[in-house]
Amino acid sequence: MTEDRPRSHGRLSITASLRPRELMAGNDRLRGAWVARIITLFPEAFPGTLGLSLTGRALKHGLWQLQTIHLRDFGIGKHRNVDDTPAGGGAGMVLRPDVVGAALDQAAIGTPPDRARWPVVYLSPRGRVFDQAMARRWAAAEGITILCGRFEGVDQRVLDHHAVEEVSLGDFVLTGGEIAAQAMIDATVRLLPGVLGNAESTRDESHSAGLLEHPQYTRPAVWEGHEIPPVLMSGHHGEIAEWRRAQSEALTRERRPDLWERYLRKRDGKGG
Ligand code: SAH
Repeated sequence: MTEDRPRSHGRLSITASLRPRELMAGNDRLRGAWVARIITLFPEAFPGTLGLSLTGRALKHGLWQLQTIHLRDFGIGKHRNVDDTPAGGGAGMVLRPDVVGAALDQAAIGTPPDRARWPVVYLSPRGRVFDQAMARRWAAAEGITILCGRFEGVDQRVLDHHAVEEVSLGDFVLTGGEIAAQAMIDATVRLLPGVLGNAESTRDESHSAGLLEHPQYTRPAVWEGHEIPPVLMSGHHGEIAEWRRAQSEALTRERRPDLWERYLRKRDGKGG
């Protein structure tokens, strides 16, 4: 579905017609909020799921800002072409470096050149796989520019020229970067101060301490003959914490030997 009244969700659409001064004035107004600036051929895909629930409420309340830059606005000629056939032959189309470069230039306006303060990312199955540590790094930045690819991807020269970091959602191939962008922005935004009601919930969850989360239960106490583990009903906070930690460890060891190995190395490295 397209967003009829984008501003009602705090979304700011940046188009090629916006002058730099206007863009910066816009940023001034929004000072302090974390910004996701997204270059895409499908701005109507946003906010998408980011407009729902906790991320949506945070967007509405100005805890973060979503800005889309429509790649089509930088297209060439009457038909606003953004792609062309791959040099050397082969299937599909490649996004042109001049078109993507112009969009990246526009996206850079008013952002710090220090990539730690403002990462510039191309979503790509060739990239480093996104994880919780990366979400934490992004949340600590002032904002991020995310380039969503389509077709066969983007001309390599523009990625090199703009020192763009490639990041992947996982070892599979999507038709475009928009879903990956929403997944990564969701993971990042929920780490921003004030977005989740309970600050503890990001501390204990899966991947925050290098372990998967323990199982969760809620009412009814007996469902289809299955009881909630009695320790959780005991009221002994110490025993509950101990049980949860043991469950976390067992689950991680069983399901994710890679995480378990890393967890042990870290724990033993610390002399624990
Ligand atoms: N030809 C490319 C794949 C292009 S898929 C290759 O083989 O590497 C089209 C677009 O979808 C990409 O430009 C990228 O932006 C997005 N995409 C596909 N898979 C992705 C993934 N695993 N993570 C993030 N983005 C992805």
